[in-house]
Amino acid sequence: MIVRAALLGLAGGQAVKDAVTSAPGIADIVRRFAAGDTDDDALRATSDLQDDGFDVSLDYLGEDTLDRAQAEQTAGAYARILSRLADAGLAPRAEVSVKLSAIGQALPGDGVALATDNALSICQAAKDAGTTVTLDMEDHTTTDLTLATLGALRADFPTTGAVLQSYLHRTESDCRDLAVPGSRIRLCKGAYREPETVAYQTRADIDRSYVRCMKVLLEGQGYPMFATHDDRLVAIAEALTRRYGRGRDTYEFQMLYGVRRDEQRRLRDAGETIRVYVPYGTEWYGYLVRRMAERPANLSLGLRAILDRH
Ligand SMILES: Cc1cc2nc3c(=O)[nH]c(=O)nc-3n(C[C@H](O)[C@H](O)[C@H](O)COP(=O)(O)OP(=O)(O)OC[C@H]3O[C@@H](n4cnc5c(N)ncnc54)[C@H](O)[C@@H]3O)c2cc1C
Repeated sequence: MIVRAALLGLAGGQAVKDAVTSAPGIADIVRRFAAGDTDDDALRATSDLQDDGFDVSLDYLGEDTLDRAQAEQTAGAYARILSRLADAGLAPRAEVSVKLSAIGQALPGDGVALATDNALSICQAAKDAGTTVTLDMEDHTTTDLTLATLGALRADFPTTGAVLQSYLHRTESDCRDLAVPGSRIRLCKGAYREPETVAYQTRADIDRSYVRCMKVLLEGQGYPMFATHDDRLVAIAEALTRRYGRGRDTYEFQMLYGVRRDEQRRLRDAGETIRVYVPYGTEWYGYLVRRMAERPANLSLGLRAILDRH
């Protein structure tokens, strides 16, 4: 937990970012966690995963959006990939995941309205393609805004989903509010550095919250998406879905590209729906830092790549 907090804190600095992004060897690590820089890379990864029996959620990387043009460029990138997914016949089993910060939410002035407009255009493109959108969840200062945007999107695009993070104290109650018919909720532990005023700090507390949230979602009438690589939580989810009499088409598992591929295959072979979250694009820095913070072994790979340079 201490290493994780330190890394997530340190990662904001430009000097660290420059050192990491220019380190030789870093490309190999990025390749493990992201499909590549281009739309073609994303389509190839989607097609390969679907051939192997997995569903996909594509994430166009980018979160430090600094101006309106960049926000609109990102929304355009989503519209483009959705249209290409449809042309390739891949859309029914590939949705997209969107960070509202990447499409303008944090911009001063009318950022929230801009992000909502951009999200509406992505939802329309997804609908036209025959698929849907899930809103990623970022740090706790954005939770209310993101859930408000979700509400606005669901009025026109009711299949739009969102992520809830079990490390936040509020999440069990958010699960209760959102466990309604047609609601798609991706439950994860949470990847940001959060203060103890709003978030559980120990693994045991975060895991216990995850289990309580799973029960609320399974008791409700929505479509839960269990996004975790944690063996214990996956086993509990498998048991709970049976206890709550859930058919296999009423929930799914999700894992990140390049993480626990053995477990992804095991769930697929057991007949579960499993969706792989596939990031692509050139703005991979923030994503990679969070993946390193989750697992010390990834961190040592990253540090070795940086130190080898000096
Ligand atoms: C589909 C999906 C979408 C997500 N979306 C969001 C989001 O919108 N907002 C957000 O805050 N977080 C998001 N996350 C990240 C999530 O919050 C966790 O940080 C991440 O999944 C690690 O938690 P875990 O449940 O796998 O459990 P952990 O206890 O962290 O990990 C359990 C085990 O999984 C393996 N593992 C976990 N992470 C890694 C890794 N990076 N590399 C290698 N092995 C690993 C290790 O074996 C580890 O022991 C998402 C995760 C997934 C799977």
